[in-house]
Amino acid sequence: MAKFPERARVVIVGQGGIVGASVAHHLIERGWDDIVGLDMSAIPTDVGSTSHASDFCYATAHDQLTCSTTMYSIDFFMKRGNYAKVGGLEVARVDDDDRMEELKRKVALGKAFGTNAYMISAKEAKEKFPLLEEDMIQGALWDPDAGLVIPRSQTVAGDLVQEAEATGKLTTFANTEVTDLIIEDGRIKGVVTPKGNIMADYVVVCAGLWGRTVAKMAGEDLPVMPVDHPLLWFGPYNEFDGTGEEIGYPLMRDQGNSAYMRDTGDSTTAEGGMIEWGYYEEKDPRMCHPRDLQSKEEARLSPSQRDLEMDQIMEPLERAMELTPILGELGFDERRSFNGLLQVTADGGPSIGESQKVRGLWYAVSVWVKDGPGTGKYIADWMTDGRTELDHSSIDVARYYPFQQEEEYIEERCYETAFKIYNPAVHSREPYTASRHMRRSPFYEREVELGGHFIKAAGWERAHGYAANAHLLEKYADRVPVRENEWDNRHFWRVSNAEHLEISENVGMVNLSHFAIYDVVGPDHEAMMEYLCVAKVGGTIPVGKGVYTHFLDEDGGVRADLTLIRMADRYRVIDGGDTGNRDFVYMKRMAQDKGFDVTVEDRTTDFTCIGLWGPNARVNLQAVADEPDELTDKNFPFAAIKTFTVNGVKVTAFRISYVGEQGWELHCKYEDGIALWDALYGQGVAPIGVETYANSRRLEKSLRLQNADLLTNYNLMEADLARPKVKEADFHGKAAYLAQRERDHQPAMLCTLVMTDNVDSKGVARYPVGNMPIMDKAGDFLVDSLGRRSFVTSVSYGPTIGKNICLAYLPHDLAKKGNEFVVEYFGETFSVEVAGVGYEPLYDPENLKPRT
Ligand SMILES: Cc1cc2nc3c(=O)[nH]c(=O)nc-3n(C[C@H](O)[C@H](O)[C@H](O)COP(=O)(O)OP(=O)(O)OC[C@H]3O[C@@H](n4cnc5c(N)ncnc54)[C@H](O)[C@@H]3O)c2cc1C
Repeated sequence: MAKFPERARVVIVGQGGIVGASVAHHLIERGWDDIVGLDMSAIPTDVGSTSHASDFCYATAHDQLTCSTTMYSIDFFMKRGNYAKVGGLEVARVDDDDRMEELKRKVALGKAFGTNAYMISAKEAKEKFPLLEEDMIQGALWDPDAGLVIPRSQTVAGDLVQEAEATGKLTTFANTEVTDLIIEDGRIKGVVTPKGNIMADYVVVCAGLWGRTVAKMAGEDLPVMPVDHPLLWFGPYNEFDGTGEEIGYPLMRDQGNSAYMRDTGDSTTAEGGMIEWGYYEEKDPRMCHPRDLQSKEEARLSPSQRDLEMDQIMEPLERAMELTPILGELGFDERRSFNGLLQVTADGGPSIGESQKVRGLWYAVSVWVKDGPGTGKYIADWMTDGRTELDHSSIDVARYYPFQQEEEYIEERCYETAFKIYNPAVHSREPYTASRHMRRSPFYEREVELGGHFIKAAGWERAHGYAANAHLLEKYADRVPVRENEWDNRHFWRVSNAEHLEISENVGMVNLSHFAIYDVVGPDHEAMMEYLCVAKVGGTIPVGKGVYTHFLDEDGGVRADLTLIRMADRYRVIDGGDTGNRDFVYMKRMAQDKGFDVTVEDRTTDFTCIGLWGPNARVNLQAVADEPDELTDKNFPFAAIKTFTVNGVKVTAFRISYVGEQGWELHCKYEDGIALWDALYGQGVAPIGVETYANSRRLEKSLRLQNADLLTNYNLMEADLARPKVKEADFHGKAAYLAQRERDHQPAMLCTLVMTDNVDSKGVARYPVGNMPIMDKAGDFLVDSLGRRSFVTSVSYGPTIGKNICLAYLPHDLAKKGNEFVVEYFGETFSVEVAGVGYEPLYDPENLKPRT
């Protein structure tokens, strides 16, 4: 046995699970050495979820990153001979048309994100999975890459660790619990164990269900909760005896019943000769706080297994027996059946990346087996290069604001997501019902009076539209379509499209309280922001000027899109609600890494903002401002900032537009917000909901959204946001940016497309929501020279132009105005035409450039 070390370059906490094993493997692959892996139990784990996972891998998910990590993992397992690629079914029962539609939607998403799923008939499903009652289903999704990790993910984890140890770069210690973290000056220094301390430069937490208990040692929390997952065994089932196979039939999911099943192959194999049936609780998910997990000694089964109560599963099991009668015919093996604990998260995504509080402390928590190797690769690339192949904003643990790390929030939100593991199909616009009212703007009470249809953005209650504007529906009746299709209309209020037209033809005010606002202060504030931003923000840029700019990553990928105001002693950073916390954490990290003497202060709740836009914005503002002459076009040019008084409130107005129309962002102190609102409302200015601002008008204006259209896997030229000149000063990502600019052309361009036909086969006009694949007329996918497949990154109906508008990166040779393609939505294709290559607004009355 190796001597217990006193120091290491990296310590992995939770070496025995599939995630710890995958992280070790990939770190070594990326050249890391001197790694110590610790597990409080066995290696491979005998207590973690990996020790009893079902080991299903379905390739197709609802987002690109998950599809990518799963496809990588499948390939990884395959190459090792650890994968039975049997395929997987997801069935829709005859009485469940919604599920059938959802499967079609999922197939389209798979096409967008590079998986190979397609729809098959009930007959074909029966041929593939003979245990089904064919007349009970109307069709199925077939995922040909789906399969099973064999012999078990637990075995694979053990093998990976052994192989890593054989390189001499990993040393492991089982039965060695990390009981504390050694942290100095906000940096990880090592771990405490009963066998002694190990000093380390990096600690990677792969502790699965126990992830939060380790995070607590660092004084933070992770939005993750373990939840019971009933797993039952039926047998003996000897259909595949003599084959030597771990599994005979494909995997089968019946999400309408929140259940799945598979056979376990030849009875001589690991779990053989049985049928396994799993269920995700839909009525009363049983959560278990990590601190309540039992120890190995206390637990009757294992710390990650709890006793199963039959009343949990009787109803769905009866339904399962109708669909697959074999379950009723075989005996139920009570001794082997149990509740396994797996993890649900506050937003459905895992907690990956460097701790917000402690440098060098990394998390890889709430990761499924199917994403284990893919996540291992992401962590290793991220720790090595500071970036990953695809944009990682959706999994970055830094995306969580402090309020999202509060215990009550975590419990409420995770409880809600626990219902949604399989069912119902989650709509892209679906607001959470738990943990509402975390943040309210000063205008909230007024908005309630106006009948705001509230959704949530970054914890803020935001009105999609206002019932009080119903009269505008009469005014614009013929231009505001009725969305007949339930899905297209779900969590959508028609009045929003009328508000959109009102801001085009008259004036409107938008609650922008969700802006995240940060002050960068200190002796190096100018040097630091000059280094982070692509645009020139220091030097000759005058105090009081606003600059729209971006942060790039090392490879020139777009990682932030924000506005800065240069002030006498600081920069005020105005950022989107969705992206704010990540950028806040990033700025603090860059200050540390590059040695800038600054502090970054969160001022979000000190200020508020109203956007006042429309052809009549100026006259309305002049009517209430104390110095109306200062507001003329000549005196107040685009991108300028001025301070004046409205209704006794000191307002800092920034002439800028996210909606194409003339107007201003009006910033003031939070407590003064209500007086500003009242002054504008008293003038007769219509309140306009966030749908117009964030979606319909944004797309008419061809404006890009970070984390949707702006991603680190595309560059600024491709997004057509590069400036004509490159500033002299050095900035992060500059070398890559210069090289990208030197190219004859970019591999892809972000284009604006319009749907030229949106009527489906039932004669219903569709208003798509979410991502969609793009194909040429022959049905072939569009792939650029870097291998990136095109898909719709944003879509919305634009009432002013009367069409659905999409944004999508198209390969260079296809990015031509007038080119025609098709998009797929719920199994049907619709024609689209390229209306603009690069930044080319379809509606821009003031001919405003994006915030230059
Ligand atoms: C019944 C069931 C079925 C499932 N089926 C599937 C499936 O079909 N497909 C799929 O993809 N996923 C499935 N999952 C989910 C999957 O099992 C988990 O997401 C995955 O195994 C998590 O792996 P991990 O390495 O993160 O954690 P774990 O396997 O739980 O390993 C964590 C390790 O950390 C160690 N540890 C914890 N705290 C400390 C500490 N302080 N010091 C040292 N060591 C520590 C533990 O001892 C443990 O060994 C299933 C889960 C369950 C419960």
